[in-house]
Order: sequence, then structure tokens, then C-alpha cells
Amino acid sequence: MSEKGHPKLKQCDPTNRRITELPPLGMETKAIADDFRRYFAHTLGRDDHCKSSHYPYKALALALRDRLIERWKTTRRAYEESDCKRTFYLSLEFLMGRALSNTMLNLDLTQQSYKALYDLGVSLEEIRESEPDAGLGNGGLGRLAACFLDSCASLRLPVRGYGLRYEYGMFRQHIANGQQIEDPDHWLRDGNPWELERPEYVQRIKFGGRVEQGRDASGRLHIRWVDTHDVLAVPYDIPIPGYRNNTVNTLRLWKAAATDEFDLEEFHAGGYTEAVKKKNDAENITMVLYPNDASENGKELRLRQQYFLASASIKDVIREWHESHQDFSEFAEKNCFQLNDTHPSISVAELMRQLMDEQHLGWDDAWAITSHTMAYTNHTLLPEALERWPVRLFQQLLPRLLEIIYEINARFLAQVAQHWPGDTDRLRRISIIEEGHEPMVRMAYLAIVGSFSINGVAALHTQLLTAGLFHDFYELWPERFNNKTNGVTPRRWLAACNPGLRELITKSIGDDWIANLPEISQIEKLADSRVFRRKWRDIKQTNKQRLAAMVKADCDVEFNPESLFDVQVKRIHEYKRQLLNILHVIHLYNRIRAGDTANWTNRCVLIGGKAAPGYVMAKLIIKLINNVARVVNNDPDVGDKLKVAFIPNYRVSAMEVIAPGTDLSEQISTAGKEASGTGNMKFMMNGAVTIGTLDGANIEIMEEVGKKNFFLFGLTATEVDTQRIHYDPNRIIDNDADFRQVMQLLECGYFNQFEPGRFDTIIESIRNPYDPWMTAADFRSYVEAQQRAAEAYQDQEQWLRMSIINSARSGRFSTDRTMQEYNRDIWRMQPVAPLPLTLADP
Ligand SMILES: *Cc1c(COP(=O)(O)O)cnc(C)c1O
Repeated sequence: MSEKGHPKLKQCDPTNRRITELPPLGMETKAIADDFRRYFAHTLGRDDHCKSSHYPYKALALALRDRLIERWKTTRRAYEESDCKRTFYLSLEFLMGRALSNTMLNLDLTQQSYKALYDLGVSLEEIRESEPDAGLGNGGLGRLAACFLDSCASLRLPVRGYGLRYEYGMFRQHIANGQQIEDPDHWLRDGNPWELERPEYVQRIKFGGRVEQGRDASGRLHIRWVDTHDVLAVPYDIPIPGYRNNTVNTLRLWKAAATDEFDLEEFHAGGYTEAVKKKNDAENITMVLYPNDASENGKELRLRQQYFLASASIKDVIREWHESHQDFSEFAEKNCFQLNDTHPSISVAELMRQLMDEQHLGWDDAWAITSHTMAYTNHTLLPEALERWPVRLFQQLLPRLLEIIYEINARFLAQVAQHWPGDTDRLRRISIIEEGHEPMVRMAYLAIVGSFSINGVAALHTQLLTAGLFHDFYELWPERFNNKTNGVTPRRWLAACNPGLRELITKSIGDDWIANLPEISQIEKLADSRVFRRKWRDIKQTNKQRLAAMVKADCDVEFNPESLFDVQVKRIHEYKRQLLNILHVIHLYNRIRAGDTANWTNRCVLIGGKAAPGYVMAKLIIKLINNVARVVNNDPDVGDKLKVAFIPNYRVSAMEVIAPGTDLSEQISTAGKEASGTGNMKFMMNGAVTIGTLDGANIEIMEEVGKKNFFLFGLTATEVDTQRIHYDPNRIIDNDADFRQVMQLLECGYFNQFEPGRFDTIIESIRNPYDPWMTAADFRSYVEAQQRAAEAYQDQEQWLRMSIINSARSGRFSTDRTMQEYNRDIWRMQPVAPLPLTLADP
């Protein structure tokens, strides 16, 4: 062959490239089976001796991914060609869980995949368990982001998620001697078939250095951020399929990498190990997810993560904007950034910086764009969760950003001073910079000042925000505040995780409810049919058996599926009051010991959740739960009357088994503290009845199902505030014989026989008049609500009616509704259909 190419072919014409002009891939069983075998045998190089289920899992994932990628491209092209408005969802957390079942459901390939593998002697059930959870989040906030992406794709909304590709996600929890042990979660160890590296879109992110001012020949001020220590941001894309609509959106996760020249200078100077250390420092940025839920710990690396996400994502959006636009005149009309909590709020200053210093816009133009594209979602009223960074740290790490924040603040305070002349107290309160011995930047305030929309996540939460935490801002800009009650995706949280119920509902009313959850209300009329109730019960029993098997395997505790399954799973936090739950368990134990068991309802209490590694009290509560469980489960007089288990390593894939198998959902936070809750919605959808306080979205759940189908108890948020002043837990305990006995058992060390004093701080917290969570205040009313639930469970037909009604009225809690509201009020985009899969001649 000649040097110049193939002798018989003319010069290749690169303008006539047609590599990707391919016929669509088959969606039938045979096509899936063929691809599965090719990936397994050829790409992965395995044979039938291979025992590990990891390879069949990976082969199926690759076969499905091909189908995703086809649709990904036609979606992307439709967005490009229509030049549509887009939204970018910025979040430090995406708690995605597993992708396999969701992909099969949304592509409508579940049956074909089962059949293909079955014919080859492979059990899909088994290989599903090989997929590690993508645990890139702590709890509700991160899971919400994941549900939002599913709904946006299902509604054909052009929304892209931006996040960080943590090498280590949420730690794995195991229990030893009743205590939480944290193990690193190296979820990427065996590779991730769902991601696609995009090195072509790498970005360079600046840290440190100093700011230089200069004027050019025409006298224009130029600002240069120099002598920086740069880090590369490498994007990895994850496909987000819509439900059976051929749309595939993108979650883009950034990985930190050292710049190429990191080592040269120092390497040549003989500082090899120092050079490698610097490389490690760079790559550390995305090494690990901070495992704190609803609290900040003020670490510099965390600020680095936040800026890294903001800077890389905004650069990426501007890069793409330049591909099809000359200037920024239409930028604000066509782009929106939704900030998932305060974590990414540095984006406000970073967009200003990029528009001014890199795109050469003036302040006013840059501000007009920023303040019309940023929107902020607040997720909590707990002050310890709102990040405040020392000005000193900002100066060191992000000097140019600090300058911009000072300027934003100066202009903002001038506006406030005009609005309330002479009100210096208000100026001090509302300033983005908190003065004091150690001046701080209040990041939530930066987010508010820079955003055109500020929303809370449930009606009560938004009301409390505007009346309390953000009241000064609300008085200034009432029109910016709005509520968007959270939801969960009915695809993962009902259709995929509860196949029994999915089939029953679909056989009864068709399958429209999967894409339009309010349709599920049609099953309510069937609550009166005995036959339907029988089927509903059989499915619940099967799901309870599945859950009992998991409890047996993970906790070595026997749950009898005939008992009431009473479940509280969520992050361990004092405001969520797992402690109140365990006090009730001790009370039930006392009743059994006293022989007070007439008309008893057998009950299995399941509690699960991770504690932040530095949260001493939360970890002690885990220890107490486990100690109480050991005593109760080993007491021969108790038997099936009461079982208690702490399920280790609560995560998305565990919840997919837990929610369908639950009868009673515990949502018992101190009123006014839980912003929304979403676990409550997953349980409701799967036919659990709630026992709960008037907090967060519980209020809206109760509005839907009515008091008759909800076990309500406890103080209201207003009562919590008014009664706090003269709160006297010791008097409450003294006046309540049951409570007294519970405290006696705790205080005599009954649950810590060989660990004297172990639970003293818990006992003190219950008896403390300044207990912020007012656990004792709700004890009596909680015990009574639990008694009503126990009695209700004895009337199985009535309980089944309640269960059906809870599912039937869960339509409002789909993230499809939530996303439609965000889009209607904040994003204002048109849905965009993907191009057809069968590409016509280009
Ligand atoms: C839904 C979910 C949460 C949120 O639960 P809440 O009860 O709302 O706090 C947390 N973690 C996981 C794994 C979840 O699936």
C-alpha cells in the first residue's frame, strides 16, 4: 500500500463524514440479547465460567447505554437547533442510586431485558444487586435533585444538572457493638458504565493568587486575577432518560485534575515529591462528599468544592453559548441557573466575574444578566446549615470573588438605605458581610440579593422563611419569594420499586398514571371492592416478606409479616426525633412487661439512617436504638409482640425495598424544623399511612388524605414557639406515669448494663428545659396517636382502605407537578421534542 493511502480510493473527503449515520438499534429481545452477549464475551472478554455477576450487569448496562446514547444525541440536536431557553440545575449533591432498573423502565425495555437474560440462563434479579448506588448526596436534598432530573426529562424540559463527581460518595455504614462505623464508599472502583468522559470540554479553574488592576491604551480598567494555582475540571456526562419519550437529558459531573504543567517547575528543581503533593491537592477537590446533612462545618476544602462547581459549570454554559451566539444580549432570556440550596451560591459572584473579567461586559450589563438568570432554592430553617465563610479565607482563596461580593454588597446596602433611611440596625442585619471579630460572608444573603426567584420547599417552610429567617428581604422584595412543594418521581418510587402494585394499578386503570400521577386517584373508588382490597393486601404482604428478608439478612432480627411494620428511615438528626420513636418503643416494652397487652397489636419497629461522623449526639442515638433493640428482641416474654431493628447503611436502593413494605410511616420532626420531607411522600405513594406532626409537607399530605387517614399528633410550629418560653420537661415527665416509667428504665441503666452512664447526655437532653426539639412536649400525644394506629391496624379492611386512599391521593407529590410549577413560575421554558431517531439524509 502506498504511503498516501489506499491505491484504489480517491483522497478522503472530511466534509462528507458520516460515521454516525446509523440505523436505530433494535428494541426487541433478540437485539438486546445479541448486544448483551457481544459485550459480555468480546468487549468484557468473559466466558461461561465467569461466576461474578458484575460482568453480566456491566454487559447489560452497556447494551442499554447504546440505546440511551442514540436518544441523547437526538435530544441534544433538538435543543441546539431550536435555540431554546435552558435551565442549569446546580447542586453539590445528586443522590442518584442505581440506574439499571430506571433505565429499563424509562426505555420500556424491562420485559425484553428479563427475557433476553433469562434465555441465556442469567437472572436479572441477581445481577441488579451488583450495581453500586451512586451515593453522591447526603439525603433528601440530593435525592430531590435526582428526582427533578427524572421529571424534567419526562416533561421534555431542557434542563441539565451540574454536580461533582466525588471519588468517594456517602460513606457506607455498618454497626459494631451498636455503634456506627463509617467505611469509605469507593463506588467507582469497578468502573461506571453509565458515564461518558468528555475531556474535550475540560475547564481551567483558578484559586488563590492576587488581583491586578491596570488600564489599557484607551483608559479602560482591566482586572486580572494572576499568580493563581489552577485546577482542571474534567466533565463526565450521565444520561438522564425521560419516561418513554425518547428524551435523554444530561447530568454533567466535574472531576478535578492537576494541570499538565503542575510538575514541571518543581520537578526540574528537584522537588518531585512536592510536585506530586500539589497534584494530589488539586485532585482532592472532588475526592470526597462532605457527609453532613443540614449542617456546615466551615472547611476550606468545602469552599473549594463549591467554587469549583460554580466556576466550571458557568464556564461550560458560556462556552456553549458562544457556539451559536455573537453576544450576551439574549443570554438572560435564554438561560437560567437554579441553585439547589445555599451550597452553590458563589455562582452569583462567579457569573459576574466571568461576564466582566473574561467576557468584558460592564458592571451594569453583567448585573442585569446575573440577577435575571439566578434563582435560589432554600432547603432549611436551621441556622447551622447556612454557610458563612470567613472573609479572611475568601481573601486567600478567591480574592477576586471577594472584591465582587463587596461591590454587590455596597450597591445593595445603598438600596436598603434608600428604602429605610436611617435604619442602621437593619443595614447591619441584612448586610452580606457580617461584621465582628471575625467578619464573615453570609452566602445565603448573596444568593438572595443575586436571584430573581427565592423559593422554599413546602408551604409551611416558605411561610416560615418569609416571616423569620429572610423577613428583611421579604419586606424589600416580596415578589421574589415563592413556594414550590417538593415531590418524588413516581417512576422510581412506585412503578420501578413496587412491581406488584404497579401491575395491580395498571390492570385496574391503565398505565397513564406513571407519566401523570394524579390519574392514580381513580383507584380510590376500588377501595370499596373486597376483591381489590384482597389483591392490595397480598401485594403488601409480599413486599413485607421482601423487607423482612432484608431485615433478617442485615440485622439478624425476625420480622413477622403479620405484624404492623412501623418504619422511620432518614438521616439521624435530633430535629427528626428518632429519640421520640425509641421512647415510644420503651413505653411499649414497659406495657408488655406489665402485662398490659389486652387487644395488643404486634409491631415491628424499623429505624435506619446515617449520622454525620462528627455528630456525637446522633451517633449516641443510634447506639441507644441498638441497645434497646438487643434487650427487647432477646426478652422471651416479648416474642412477636414487639421487634426492633436498626437497618444499617440506609440508602436509595434500601428505600426501594423499605417503602413498599411499610405500613406506618414515621414523620415525627419537631414542627417548624423539617423543611418538607420527601421520604413521607415515597411511603404515602406505596400505601403506607403516616403518623406525623404538622411539619413540612406532612401538612399538605394530611390536606390530601384528611385527618381520618393520617395519625396526627404534637404541637404546631406556632405552639412550639409559644410554649418554648415556659417549657418544663421535668414537670411533663412527673405528671405522666408512662413517661416516668420510660425515664426510670433509661435512668437505671437498663439498656446499658455494662456501660454505665453511656446515655446520660440523651437523658439530660430530654430533661433540658432548653431542649430545642422539645421531645418531651409531644410524648403523650405521640403515644396516643400510636395507640390509635395500633387499634386501626386491627381492623384490616379499614386499614386497607386507608392504605389505598393514601396511594390514590399522592398525585400532588410527583416531581412532575413540582417541575411544572418551577417551569411555570421561574424557568418559563417550552418543552422541546427530540429529533426523530431515524435520521433522514442530512
Ligand atoms: C428520600 C430519601 C431521603 C429523605 O428522607 P426524609 O425522610 O425526607 O428525610 C434520605 N435518604 C434517602 C436514601 C432517601 O431515599
